[in-house]
Amino acid sequence: MVGYIEGNDPGLKDEFVILGAHYDHIGTAKEVNGDVIANGANDDASGTVAVMEWAKYFSQTKTNKRSVLFTLYAAEEMGLKGSGHLAERLKSDSLNVYTMINFEMIGVPRAEGE
Ligand SMILES: [Zn+2]
Repeated sequence: MVGYIEGNDPGLKDEFVILGAHYDHIGTAKEVNGDVIANGANDDASGTVAVMEWAKYFSQTKTNKRSVLFTLYAAEEMGLKGSGHLAERLKSDSLNVYTMINFEMIGVPRAEGE
């Protein structure tokens, strides 16, 4: 899924900032307290909400000088297929990408450490 807000600076609006996150998760996993569904609140519902909140913010403020793409992709846990497809598509369209920021597991620190 891709959303778009055009930049407000005529000299910069042809450059794109891409904000992204994946919305799939691993499906089912080892049973915990009778539940086998891996809900994925942190990986990566937290990231998708961050992208949608940025979309809401920029749609209301219109303060972005560069154009912004808000991207949410699936099949990340199957081997980065969704983001890979998006990257190939944007390359084939010769999009002038200034930077891309991926939001991933921003809800809580990883159990293995920070
Ligand atoms: Zn993830």
